[in-house]
Amino acid sequence: MVNPAGGDGQGPSRAWAGRGAVWRWFLLGGFALVAVVPWMPPMGRQATFAVAAVVAVAAMVCGLRWHRPAYRTPWLLMTTGVGASLGGVMWWTGELALTAALHFPSVGDLLYVCAYPLFIATLLTWARRDRARFAYEAVVDAAVAACGLSGLAWAFIISPIMSGPDLSHRSPGYLIYTLLDLLIIALALRLLFSAGVRTPSYVIFVAGLSLDMTGDMLYYVGLAWNVPALTGATSASLWVLAYVFFAAATLHPSMSESTGSAERVQRIATPARLSLYALLALVGPAVAVGTVVLRGRGAPAVDLIVPMVVAAATAVLLVARLGLLAHFAHRRAIQLDNQAVALNAALHEQQELRAALTAWSLRDDLTGLGNRVLLRDHLDAVTGPHALLLLDLDGFQDVNDLYGHAVGDTLLTAVADRLREAAGDGLLVRLGGDEFAVLLVQERAAAATDVARALVEAVREPFQLGERETMVTASVGVLSAAAPVGTVEALRRADMALYAAKGAGKNRVEVYADALAETRDRRMRLIADLRRALADEALAVHYQPVVDLDTGRVTAVEALVRWRDGTRWIPPGEFIPIAEESGLVVPLGAWVLRRALADVKPWFEQYGIAVTVNVSGRQLREPDIADVVLDALEARAMPGAALVVEITETVLVADVGPEAAAAHGVLDRLRGEGIRVAVDDFGTGYSSLAYLRTLPVDVLKIDRAFVQDEDARGDSTAFLQAIVQMARSLRLRTVAEAVETEAQAERLRQLDCPLAQGYYFARPMPASELTALLARTGGRLEGEAQPTRAA
Ligand code: C2E
Ligand code: CA
Ligand code: CA
Repeated sequence: MVNPAGGDGQGPSRAWAGRGAVWRWFLLGGFALVAVVPWMPPMGRQATFAVAAVVAVAAMVCGLRWHRPAYRTPWLLMTTGVGASLGGVMWWTGELALTAALHFPSVGDLLYVCAYPLFIATLLTWARRDRARFAYEAVVDAAVAACGLSGLAWAFIISPIMSGPDLSHRSPGYLIYTLLDLLIIALALRLLFSAGVRTPSYVIFVAGLSLDMTGDMLYYVGLAWNVPALTGATSASLWVLAYVFFAAATLHPSMSESTGSAERVQRIATPARLSLYALLALVGPAVAVGTVVLRGRGAPAVDLIVPMVVAAATAVLLVARLGLLAHFAHRRAIQLDNQAVALNAALHEQQELRAALTAWSLRDDLTGLGNRVLLRDHLDAVTGPHALLLLDLDGFQDVNDLYGHAVGDTLLTAVADRLREAAGDGLLVRLGGDEFAVLLVQERAAAATDVARALVEAVREPFQLGERETMVTASVGVLSAAAPVGTVEALRRADMALYAAKGAGKNRVEVYADALAETRDRRMRLIADLRRALADEALAVHYQPVVDLDTGRVTAVEALVRWRDGTRWIPPGEFIPIAEESGLVVPLGAWVLRRALADVKPWFEQYGIAVTVNVSGRQLREPDIADVVLDALEARAMPGAALVVEITETVLVADVGPEAAAAHGVLDRLRGEGIRVAVDDFGTGYSSLAYLRTLPVDVLKIDRAFVQDEDARGDSTAFLQAIVQMARSLRLRTVAEAVETEAQAERLRQLDCPLAQGYYFARPMPASELTALLARTGGRLEGEAQPTRAA
């Protein structure tokens, strides 16, 4: 049954506060009562006894109702037990009052004996057994103690009673009482050894039980040895007190938690308990010896046999206890063994895992080669001459963009296989992406350039990827050092050499030299300076006219950026490629565009002159490039017809795949707004003339190589003628670039090329100069007629 305290609000908890103290008053009252018991006559004592029993039963019923323990079987049994003993006490009291004597055995005894099974049941049900394991140890411990006590009981109670002539007719009754008491003591000890709780209520209960048992034992001893003080006041006081304690235990609020807990198994005996065992083991033999010493040879056999049996039983129980302990120790040992085995296995597994992890962290997943970490480890360990080769694939990004990453990965794996062969016994690693490295140490370092060339050669052969044949090339930077230069520095130098190899046209080997470092430093400085120049507007735009070859009329101007760094004019050929690589060309190009539109506005309005602006591949890849261009036009309120966007042929043709599609989309959009698109340096790329059809362009600018090539007249003339005719059929305008002489201009006229641009007509010049020139010539340039400055 569940304690309903939670069910009816605050009431019960207030009631607790009041009832909580009752047990204390009860105990106090009990002690006070007991203090006067010794001075009472037998009848008064008997009456007190009866009153105490009645009050105890009433108090226990109250306690049960107040505290409602969840597990109340033991309490009910105990209350019933005390009730039964009350019946016995009442009978005796009545008998004493009516006949002035007690008969034995009587109905009172019968009732009183009934209390014993109930107490035994109380002790058996108090704690719940552990389902997993029965507490044999507690049973054996209790049995050992009971054996010892029974030896004492035999010597001091049973044997004297049995041999005493007056008591012999009562001895069976007392024998039963004594044995029941011993059983109760044994069970109480077992509970003591195994109970899982130590609540105040439990302690009071055990104390009450001890008082009761002590009272019983003293009573029997008093009977056996004829000591009236013991049979009278002493035992009576103890019994009254026992009732008081039982009642107090039931009244104490902790009673609800005292019962029903699981047994606690104490497998290993404490030193105190071991000492007790030793003492108890001596009881049997001591009693036997005492009997022989005190009574001599005349002692009856049973007086020797019983102590011996007690001693033997104690010995057997202790052996059983040892057995339990050994069993437990053995099981624990096996458990520990298993744990040790499991622990070992786990440790081993962990070690393997760590080794795998280390190996894994040094390996490149895709190719199975070592990785950057491994290379660093080896570089750190270098002591003598060594060479570090850094290899980077040229144009790998195109393969990735064109065919997707899966094909890119396959290519990388295939490249790694070839490099593995070419690198020989050098340490080959993949640094990431399409970058690889080879480390050669000691005498192998001397062969560094040979190995580097072998690497480049190995990659140059076409790769067969599924049905597709792909070509890539590789650039290699080599650092050769006679002694360690430090890991970071070695990587830096090899990287510089690699960069130089890329700069020198790729597909080649470049060896580090200190001069490279200077080039690189200059480059870095240049980027920084250019960034500043852009911010400070230290850049300028010059304009070079494009003229109609027949009429000399200026139809357009090309915007060409200029950078004045202090006193020096830095040519765009020197900084545009760097600006492209660093991405600086994006803001730079936007600036040129805005500047050019501002400058060209009056010329456009007066002479119909459009402006041609160079747009690099890097700019074209910017997602917002079309918006940037259209916004710039709108800002100047100019139509699309005023602008020509110039893109080199290589950008238009080489950029295949999704990016090229995006670029073509941008150009389509610009053309939709009336902006024209020109292909710059036409003829240097690989586009066939037929391919032109598919490109979103309006103007072809024929590269200077075909314009200025006068010696090989046949070939270039045929080519020029083909371009011009093809362009005309496609409704494209052609512009011949870099026309420097009258002869070149004349040849172009003959070939029917409509437009031309070059020093022969005008050099690039600042906007103010061009304004003056246009005003002077009325927008018509006749070639040589203009004064040309030295180049
Ligand atoms: P480009 O687009 O081919 O420009 C024409 C180049 O040829 C200009 O060199 C021009 O000065 C030069 N030139 C013109 N007429 C003659 C001639 O009769 N003989 C010779 N030998 N050369 C002539 P510049 O200005 O040094 O520009 C070099 C390159 O820099 C340009 O080549 C263009 O690709 C790039 N560039 C110039 N300005 C810009 C710009 O604003 N943005 C971008 N992205 N690139 C630019
Ligand atoms: Ca150009
Ligand atoms: Ca050009």
